Amino acid sequence: MNKYLTKVLKNTKSNNIEEKEYLQAVEEVLTSLTPVIDKHPEMEKLAILERMVEPERTIIFRVPWVNDRGEIIVNRGYRVQFSSLIGPYKGGLRFAENVNLSIMKFLGFEQIFKNALTGLPIGGAKGGADFNPKGKSDMEIMRFCQSFMTELYRHIGADVDVPAGDIGVGAREIGFLFGQYKRIRNTYEGGVLTGKGLEYGGSQARKEATGYGLIYFMREMLKENGKNSLKNKTVTISGSGNVAIYAAEKALMSGAKVVAMSDSNGCIYDKNGIDLDAIKEIKEVKRGRIKDYLKYHKDAIYTEHKGQNSPIWEIKTDIALPCATQNELTLDSAKILVKNGVLAIGEGANMPCTKEATEYLLKHNVLVAPAKAANAGGVATSAIEMSQNSMRYYLTFEEVDKKLENIMVNIFRSCKDAAEKYGLDNNYVAGANIAAFIKLSSAMIAQGIH
Ligand code: NDP
Repeated sequence: MNKYLTKVLKNTKSNNIEEKEYLQAVEEVLTSLTPVIDKHPEMEKLAILERMVEPERTIIFRVPWVNDRGEIIVNRGYRVQFSSLIGPYKGGLRFAENVNLSIMKFLGFEQIFKNALTGLPIGGAKGGADFNPKGKSDMEIMRFCQSFMTELYRHIGADVDVPAGDIGVGAREIGFLFGQYKRIRNTYEGGVLTGKGLEYGGSQARKEATGYGLIYFMREMLKENGKNSLKNKTVTISGSGNVAIYAAEKALMSGAKVVAMSDSNGCIYDKNGIDLDAIKEIKEVKRGRIKDYLKYHKDAIYTEHKGQNSPIWEIKTDIALPCATQNELTLDSAKILVKNGVLAIGEGANMPCTKEATEYLLKHNVLVAPAKAANAGGVATSAIEMSQNSMRYYLTFEEVDKKLENIMVNIFRSCKDAAEKYGLDNNYVAGANIAAFIKLSSAMIAQGIH
């Protein structure tokens, strides 16, 4: 790494001690920028990197709410408004027990780059709370969301900051959050949240967008590298939430065979191919556990998670799609995948591969579709939702899906072109970081010191 990058990384580490996920995300980006910084030494004088790694604003707040037993619970809420360089802050809300400042900052940082890659006018942010929605009643979820929005509302707006969903925040939560925002502000401001229900301003294909987009990106990457289409390829997908389910749906529509999916307790393997209708019923309707799949298909195999390495990556597959959470695919898992002849990895989740796993996969000629690019379809479609809200005019499913497909093809091209321009062959991980960085640094230079 060159001297400027090394200095910024060192300072970022000493200023953010113990924020391990955030430092991991920064290190990954900075490491890949060497050829760009070598070519543009003027960036140091302009403190481009120092400005890029510091969020514009971080808001932390108390979220008190009352559970069904009448007890008062206090959670901690966050909104990290990382960058408004190319548009209003934009990024999801995550409700999960392990949410902390490091995870919020890593997600916010990644979001700036991802949003830049979409080619749409959106800045980067992330938020959420250390609230675990699992096992809570609808009324508890509603009271929590109302309390969360009672503070968040003063920091967001259709031209200021537009949150959406993420882990633990789906259509139900967005509905409760939107209702409370509308009530406090006494205004219908559709563009303040995305991922809304279709009845009150949501976009067609938003629910499907991240998963479908991941497969569109994968399709381009395979084609470009002479690996043909997804037809008849075996696919394993971790998670069984929003991203995983719609990645599975599009993979099946593309002729692939999805043989395994998981949740935080364990994974199921169905050699006959996963029955996605059963998964949707278990996860979307009943909010149950993936183990319940055995009630539908007795010959499927269920394996509990034990320790760091998910058993799903031990299954032989052509394509592995980590679509659950950060650092879920470790070096040990990468080694097994490579041994079993995996062709490509598509990161549906944010930073699902550890740094060591990504390095190992790339070194062993596995194609890696990096999260910032490959899962950008969700936020891109959120931006399309914002446009529809401004126009007060709604597109059909097919129209949105077509736009999504074009955006994903363009994102792939940007990653490929940047990688080739800087002599990095088909390293799309570096390509994505470089393409986004060039756009962001140009905007930063154009807007002066701020
Ligand atoms: P959901 O809450 O809908 O689903 C998350 C899924 O991951 C659940 O099935 C959950 O299981 C599972 N999971 C969580 N932790 C683990 C683990 N350690 N091992 C295995 N499975 C686990 O979230 P999303 O699908 O929305 O998000 C998934 C990922 O995709 C996140 O990284 C998110 O940041 C990213 N992403 C999401 C976008 C979106 O549009 N929703 C856009 C871009 C990225 P359980 O039910 O047991 O908790």
